[in-house]
Amino acid sequence: MDAVGTYDAVIVGSGPNGLAAAIELAQNGRRVAVLEGRSTIGGGTRSAEITLPGFVHDLGSAIHPLGYASPFFRSLPLEDHGLEWIHPPVPLAHPFDGGTAAVLGRSIAATAAALGPDAAAYRRLMEPISDDAGRIADFFVGRPSFLRHPLALASSGIWSLRDARTLVESLFEGEMARGLFAGNAAHSFLRLDRPPSAMFGLMLGTLGHAFGWPFPKGGSQALADALASYLAALGGEIYTDAVVRSVEDVPRTRAVLFDVTPRQLLDIAGEHFTEGYRNGLKRYRYGPGIFKMDFALDGPVPWEAEGCRQAGTVHLGGTFDEVAAGEGAVSRGEHPERPFILLAQQSLFDRTRAPEGKHTVWAYCHVPNGSTFDMTERIEAQIERFAPGFRDLILAKRAAGTADLERWNPNLVGGDINGGYMDLKQLFARPMPRVDPYSTPAGGLYICSSSTPPGGGVHGMCGYLAARVALRYLE
Ligand SMILES: Cc1cc2nc3c(=O)[nH]c(=O)nc-3n(C[C@H](O)[C@H](O)[C@H](O)COP(=O)(O)OP(=O)(O)OC[C@H]3O[C@@H](n4cnc5c(N)ncnc54)[C@H](O)[C@@H]3O)c2cc1C
Repeated sequence: MDAVGTYDAVIVGSGPNGLAAAIELAQNGRRVAVLEGRSTIGGGTRSAEITLPGFVHDLGSAIHPLGYASPFFRSLPLEDHGLEWIHPPVPLAHPFDGGTAAVLGRSIAATAAALGPDAAAYRRLMEPISDDAGRIADFFVGRPSFLRHPLALASSGIWSLRDARTLVESLFEGEMARGLFAGNAAHSFLRLDRPPSAMFGLMLGTLGHAFGWPFPKGGSQALADALASYLAALGGEIYTDAVVRSVEDVPRTRAVLFDVTPRQLLDIAGEHFTEGYRNGLKRYRYGPGIFKMDFALDGPVPWEAEGCRQAGTVHLGGTFDEVAAGEGAVSRGEHPERPFILLAQQSLFDRTRAPEGKHTVWAYCHVPNGSTFDMTERIEAQIERFAPGFRDLILAKRAAGTADLERWNPNLVGGDINGGYMDLKQLFARPMPRVDPYSTPAGGLYICSSSTPPGGGVHGMCGYLAARVALRYLE
């Protein structure tokens, strides 16, 4: 590693949280360096041509409602550093057998109108929590606390603490509204009859209406590159191929912020912690993993349902019961025959992603943590179900199982992309119950990854909040 000199703070890992932490420290006049173990920066926010030349695939995150709404990212001049957000005409479509689809548009009224018998119920649920975008971003993407905001007391917000099944069975009659909600709730990686799965359904739906589900032009790497460019403008330094195996690998500094998950933190710095804190880290639970596929296509996906052709993201899984059954199977350690799939088709709206007339598709499904099962056939069959002729368009494809993902980014323990399970307990108390979750018992050592509140997703808020704590120590 080439990092030399003395720093006020060193950040281990250049994921969105590591870069956010470095930026907040540098904005406050601190001399910072970021040490990244891989040869490219960005952690879960990287893109590359991994199928054929000219086809740019997002290797990790693809769609960024959290990144776009993030109070911290919104405060930064990222557009001056090359970031350009692309908003597809509609954020999300959720097709059903027979060629229909529920479509989540920017307008609550238009979304509701297409939900048949549930139009009024959908408006009643979403309108109270969607009419103030700033407060929503702060509530969902800031540090979670149900006491912090009056929104929590509103009737819709209180559903956040419940499970998705209870919500849809209490409020909706039709499959369109139920299925649409199921897809968003399934982002939780939880069984849909477990809380707080409803919170994820509400959060992603609300963010879709209030902010859209945009993605960076050119690939998610463009977001990491914009953060790195702004950091460089503030005087921050980034070193790649700099794997940190122990605290002794870090150059002289007063504070170290680790953009890693508890298991790695134990390996790197465990000897500096109290036994109680070490045990807390050992008890930390990881969630299900994912199986990911990237496709280079000879044309756009031939969706049966028209609504899918305008959407940046398409959720494949059919009815609420089918999505719930798939997620239930994963939680029992099984591999569903018809998995719930999150699919993004950025090249439809961003011509920098593929050669003229060609397209990319990004897709993944949930699998048990550490799974070695190859889901290629089941993912392709599920896409084909809603887009007959899809397979004939495949020019090239790449699949990544849980071990491939963890080799690519050591934070993806067993293929868990959220830095740890996000059930009711671990969503609020991560990595363990503590008044200040970012500090460790070792003075000057912090954790700033998605294994801290507010948890998984590209929003940088974990890094920002950890940096605020470290700044108090550095005063
Ligand atoms: C396939 C996939 C799809 C996803 N889709 C989305 C999406 O569409 N939208 C969304 O918002 N989120 C998505 N996510 C989740 C999102 O990418 C993560 O929540 C986010 O990247 C977490 O940021 P982080 O900074 O905490 O950690 P990471 O982004 O994981 O970064 C950690 C960094 O630390 C480095 N590192 C680890 N150990 C060491 C060490 N010992 N020494 C030096 N460096 C080290 C790693 O190499 C990595 O660069 C997805 C993730 C994956 C993998």
